[in-house]
Amino acid sequence: MNLRTGTFLWPNTFPNHPVYPRLAEDIDCDVVVVGAGESGSLTAYRLTESGVRTVLIDKRTVGGGSSAANTGLLQLQNDKSLASCIHSFGEAQGVRFYELTAEAVQEIGHISRQLSIDPEYIPRSTLYFASGANDVTALKDEHKLLMKYGFPAEYWDAEAISRHFSFRKDGAIFVRDADAEINPFKFVNGLVDKAHEKGLRVFTDTKLQRHRFNQDGIELYTDGGYRIRAKKAVFASGYETQEMKRNANAVLLSCYAMATKPISDFPGWYQRSLIWETARPYLYIRTTKDNRIVIGGLDEQTSNPEERDRMLTRKKELLLEELAKLFPKIGALEAEYAWAGMFGTTHDGLPMVGEQEQFPHCYFALGYGGNGTVYSTIVSKVVTELIVKGTSKDKELLQFHRQKRPSAVQV
Ligand SMILES: Cc1cc2nc3c(=O)[nH]c(=O)nc-3n(C[C@H](O)[C@H](O)[C@H](O)COP(=O)(O)OP(=O)(O)OC[C@H]3O[C@@H](n4cnc5c(N)ncnc54)[C@H](O)[C@@H]3O)c2cc1C
Repeated sequence: MNLRTGTFLWPNTFPNHPVYPRLAEDIDCDVVVVGAGESGSLTAYRLTESGVRTVLIDKRTVGGGSSAANTGLLQLQNDKSLASCIHSFGEAQGVRFYELTAEAVQEIGHISRQLSIDPEYIPRSTLYFASGANDVTALKDEHKLLMKYGFPAEYWDAEAISRHFSFRKDGAIFVRDADAEINPFKFVNGLVDKAHEKGLRVFTDTKLQRHRFNQDGIELYTDGGYRIRAKKAVFASGYETQEMKRNANAVLLSCYAMATKPISDFPGWYQRSLIWETARPYLYIRTTKDNRIVIGGLDEQTSNPEERDRMLTRKKELLLEELAKLFPKIGALEAEYAWAGMFGTTHDGLPMVGEQEQFPHCYFALGYGGNGTVYSTIVSKVVTELIVKGTSKDKELLQFHRQKRPSAVQV
């Protein structure tokens, strides 16, 4: 599957990343994790921390899949609003999902501080603005709901927004100090590097070709002709997992992002907050440690890579225009990197984790969704708990065939 095309910011920030060998012998382990993106690296990191004899394989490099295309915004608010979560899954589970995302942002910070490779985790506030006047009522209701359940949200009217930013919008939710930004490529490499130091065996350029189940576990055969025998397997193979096992809840689209050249100052941009909006698809914007602006969005409903890539140049121009409209005081902006990527989400807005029919001894960890790093953190935690403890408090909410529990929302 062609996951991404273009010129990429993050791999360029870390050209001398650690490298790992291709598998060149038959091996045994307790758990094999397939996929060294965010979901797989976090899973392998957690399993290794728990003392589980783990092997991690990837057919590309560590972080060489969708994780290199990620713009690296980490947020407690999601594509699926808290109101919508409660509406779909009931009050207890809907609120629980938001607690999980809020905790995951903080946990990524905690894990980042344990790594030898600095993943540039910087705590940030977020401005979530109304794209049009019609969105203000729903935004106010969402703010009340966030407050009701103790999430750190402020409501800003048009005047408050203009005092802090160089643009005018009709209203916004401001989430203070609870979100963050990260360099996802360094994060994934940092996780694998630290776990490798602690005994994780890592093989890149090693593709899983086929597998065979037996009574005690699973045997995986790689493209080099070698066998990995494991008690359990975790498939954290990202959007490509859909080629192996299609999930009716999964949706594959295309999205676009761009990074400017470094700039000297950010006038009209309060605290270099993360920014996104109520429109669907939405724009999402952040700054980087080396003073660039990264902006993503303008999603298209296609998973065809040729169609996606044909639009890249135009999308880059449009993203640049959107930036110039929001930040006229910054002056002339120039794009240095621009990329397009496949993007996976789910119809019901939650990531998917757990067992699936016809895959004994296996778990799937699929952090699909716009808040993918946060979701990868959550699914890797659930899958590790399932393997190490035999259960997880959140397995039902996030399992593949989950129950909807439609419920009215009381603001
Ligand atoms: C343009 C763009 C912007 C984004 N912005 C954000 C953002 O701001 N914040 C956010 O949280 N998320 C964002 N995302 C989403 C985020 O990138 C993804 O959620 C995340 O990277 C998915 O990680 P993953 O581990 O599931 O997949 P991947 O990173 O793709 O990892 C899966 C790995 O599995 C390997 N693999 C697959 N099949 C096999 C096989 N048969 N054998 C061996 N290895 C295999 C692949 O090579 C790959 O490395 C964005 C995505 C895109 C495209």
